[in-house]
Amino acid sequence: MEKLKLDELICLTAWSTAWIDGRKDDSKASDDEKNIIRAMRAFFKMDLNRFNKAVEKFKTISEHVVELEDKDPITKIMARYSALKVAFKENEDGADKSNLSDKEWKFIQTIDDTINIKIVYDDIKDLAYKLVDEICAPEFLIDNELLELIDFEKESGILFERIIKPLLLKFFSSLEQKKLYDIWEENYFLLVQYKPELQDMYGQMDLKAFDQRYKELKPLISKLIKERNANEKQLAKQNIEAERIKTHEYSVSNGIHYCRYCGGDEKWRKFDCKRELGHKYTLRRVKNKFGPDFSFQPVCNNCGDIRHYCEPDNENNFTCKAR
Ligand SMILES: [Zn+2]
Ligand SMILES: [Zn+2]
Repeated sequence: MEKLKLDELICLTAWSTAWIDGRKDDSKASDDEKNIIRAMRAFFKMDLNRFNKAVEKFKTISEHVVELEDKDPITKIMARYSALKVAFKENEDGADKSNLSDKEWKFIQTIDDTINIKIVYDDIKDLAYKLVDEICAPEFLIDNELLELIDFEKESGILFERIIKPLLLKFFSSLEQKKLYDIWEENYFLLVQYKPELQDMYGQMDLKAFDQRYKELKPLISKLIKERNANEKQLAKQNIEAERIKTHEYSVSNGIHYCRYCGGDEKWRKFDCKRELGHKYTLRRVKNKFGPDFSFQPVCNNCGDIRHYCEPDNENNFTCKAR
């Protein structure tokens, strides 16, 4: 399926929120809520035809949310906070989750889980709402001059400098403060990747400040990623080793199965091997405790311990004395 454009993705997310039942009554998508999306469409120059085509791509109203996952930070923030603006619109008592219906809250949580930047919400909240308020301004629907002014601000890069850049600076500095450098890098790359499309939506964007910061952070990021990879490798190695020493290695001789490290027979397969005790068994002919007979039993080459393979495992944990 053809991917949605970024502005379509944002509008659809807000639109889905409008069609999820609110708490106070079961009326769906009030005019106020719809106007938020209409204003956004005016800002993004998205005519009804393009919007309807985007809507028609999906079977259910919220199916498109998965597409938010690998998007740039501006799109993720716009999608979440415009959805919140719509959700809170029907009861304007304030931006508190207790004002949302369960269904609305669940939908917001789905967005949160998809965009995965919860950690910065507290820091970016004010600037995020400022951006959303600017783009979802219902005045766009009645005041053409206001739209023209915004168009001018887009072309000249003023909109970016005034609203978007401060938000992005806050977003990235929040990640930096929390030492989440890999998420920093990932979102910086996404910002650069989507820059052409973002510029179509919001006008000129000068990302020099972010390019510069990335250059400064890059050695640190590479070092941290290297360290983390090394740690993960080390941990994987330890896990494999821990698993290995728990596994029996059976030999068979004279029809007798025994583990070369714990002397246990097949019956002990369900228990962990006691390899750490240090014995090394081979099958030898030994004299039976009682009577004159001899039989074959696993005997430790190092300490001479005789494992009676038909007896319980080495539960007293006798370590190999030769060690
Ligand atoms: Zn064993
Ligand atoms: Zn031994």
